[in-house]
Amino acid sequence: QAKRGGKNRYQFYNPLNNQLEAMCKKEIERLEQAFLEEEFVLYYQPKVNLLTDEVIGFEALLRWSHPERGILEPADFLPVIAGTRLEFSMGEWVIDAVLRQIQYWKSQGQDISISFNISTSHLMSQGFTDYLETMLACYSSIPNAMLEMELKESVTSDNVFEVAKTLSRCRELGVTIALDDFGTGCSSLSHLRELPIDTIKIAKSFVSGIPLSQKDKSLVKGIVQITQMLGISVIAEGVESATHSSMLLDLGCPLAQGYGIAEPMPASQVLAWLQQNVVFLIQPPDQLGSIL
Ligand code: C2E
Ligand code: MG
Ligand code: MG
Ligand code: MG
Repeated sequence: QAKRGGKNRYQFYNPLNNQLEAMCKKEIERLEQAFLEEEFVLYYQPKVNLLTDEVIGFEALLRWSHPERGILEPADFLPVIAGTRLEFSMGEWVIDAVLRQIQYWKSQGQDISISFNISTSHLMSQGFTDYLETMLACYSSIPNAMLEMELKESVTSDNVFEVAKTLSRCRELGVTIALDDFGTGCSSLSHLRELPIDTIKIAKSFVSGIPLSQKDKSLVKGIVQITQMLGISVIAEGVESATHSSMLLDLGCPLAQGYGIAEPMPASQVLAWLQQNVVFLIQPPDQLGSIL
């Protein structure tokens, strides 16, 4: 009982630890049950080109439709399942759900690319790329390039080469890769150097600062210039106001996502939203050559 967390780590008996552990175990069991009862859903938030009014795709964001508490956001439950088996089952479910959604929209006459978020531990888990490949083969009518993976910048430097190898395999399948929350990690530039990346997403914290902070504005401008020189695509997260939009256009970053454009919505609202907003859907990247 005292031996926890790997070799050579001993803990003194502490009743509080046991209590916490029991609470945590109960919470995980509750989430496992919710998963089996299909209480998890994906919400979708559009990514647009502010210059042309085109929609370039949607990001899938996980929600727990809790029978009593309503719609819960990832912050309320993802930390609980981090490092558990459920994290992987949930991650696999997300991929399946996203492909099913693309297929459904396709049957409704709309080609809508979707990106999904993935934890580094799931990406690096045994059999991940095989799973992805199998799923893409199952949904053979979907061009693989309609799928994008968003990876947080929290890739640690000791596994960056392993991560790069795995990402390359995914990319060989045609799936595109985005680096999420760019700028907040501790080795952003080396990630750009080591990882096969198609897109970076500029973290909300920089974007929200641009109207007031000259520093944030310069940083965003610098990030945009770096992506241009590297020939990768860039999108701003957390675009909440018209000021943000016009400044981002000035800074050379027309691709944007945020509450100011649309909040994440249930899948059932997406087609209506597209119609009301008279935005154009661009073709999947493989038919277009390049997003930029
Ligand atoms: P993220 O991937 O960086 O997603 C962006 C988050 O910012 C989302 O929060 C979104 O609702 C929110 N957001 C969008 N526009 C704005 C805006 O204009 N202002 C502000 N303040 N926020 C905005 P959400 O849905 O709560 O997700 C939080 C994080 O949870 C995500 O961050 C992502 O890292 C993680 N996540 C979500 N779904 C999944 C999933 O299916 N799998 C995994 N592994 N992680 C997920
Ligand atoms: Mg949130
Ligand atoms: Mg994301
Ligand atoms: Mg983000």
